[in-house]
Amino acid sequence: MDLNENQTYGLVCAHHHLYSSLARGMPPPETIPKNFEDILKSIWWKLDKALDLETIEWSAKLGALEALESGTTCIIDHHESPNAIEGSLSVIQDACHELGVRVNTCYGVTDRKPDIFSTEMSMSNEAVLGLEENRRFLLEGGVGMVGIHAAFTCSDETIDSAAGLASDLGVGVHVHVAEGDLDASSWKRLQQYTNDDWIIVHGVHLPDDHELQGVIVHNPRSNMNNGVGYAAPTRFENRVGLGTDGIGADMLEEFRIGYARLREFDVQESPVTIWNMLNVNAELFPECRDDTVTWSYSKIDPWHLAFSSGVRPLDIEIDGKPIMKNGEFTDIDSTEIRAKAKEAAEKLFKRIRELT
Ligand SMILES: [Zn+2]
Repeated sequence: MDLNENQTYGLVCAHHHLYSSLARGMPPPETIPKNFEDILKSIWWKLDKALDLETIEWSAKLGALEALESGTTCIIDHHESPNAIEGSLSVIQDACHELGVRVNTCYGVTDRKPDIFSTEMSMSNEAVLGLEENRRFLLEGGVGMVGIHAAFTCSDETIDSAAGLASDLGVGVHVHVAEGDLDASSWKRLQQYTNDDWIIVHGVHLPDDHELQGVIVHNPRSNMNNGVGYAAPTRFENRVGLGTDGIGADMLEEFRIGYARLREFDVQESPVTIWNMLNVNAELFPECRDDTVTWSYSKIDPWHLAFSSGVRPLDIEIDGKPIMKNGEFTDIDSTEIRAKAKEAAEKLFKRIRELT
């Protein structure tokens, strides 16, 4: 990944939720969530229900802007907006492309219900629409995968249809797996489908001998934030990449957090272990090698960066086109994007209050 002492390829975020960029400042839940299920129901599933295509657009633009400000030129996105499914993936792709950011996105299909432990889930209308959005986007030439929210919120029929669609279209599946104790066993229903093209997100509660194929994406800060446990990613035989799970796209910061958490787990560990996850990210989005980032720090080396906060990009070129020079965007009006995103956030928060 390193080109020169102060240069890298464009960084890749291997698991993002661009739809969550406007969430900061959203109306808080009525009571403090006490576990992962509460967090999903009282925060994320309220936010995604309130999204429309306009708020998705500005959320994606703000997320793409913040990615560039962190030297991230490629985003692997996982999207959900149950009241604005059709066309949503194109809105995200267009928003990213407007800023020059490369994106691979998918719609996370789900049959989620108020009682997500139901063993009698059947394929919902939302899942049908989500599958169709994945199909439409990919067949129209969009860069993406087929998304599944997680096995524990999907019927067998939905999982089978999503895996079949991915296979038919020659792409992998991007899915949350064993993130919390809610999904400590449902992930077994994915075993018969996985292959090397799959992106398996989290894996916190996977046993060592899980037999799932694909790249596991580790999201250390999100896992700590949700109190779901530690994935201990060094135990996996799979390749392991690094994601933010929607908390920005600052991969150097995620690297430092991942290193600190790993070191807490095993004091003999090295930052190179987490740095190698960024190399796996580059394998997932090889176009990043057509992008260059020149950094504000003179030694791009894991042992230096693990202990150096605030390292910023100075120059960014994406596919040969200058996007940032001397720390300033060449064409992008970041003030305008932030102002429009703020307006969209206010609209989104109003809808969240109405839905509560
Ligand atoms: Zn996620």
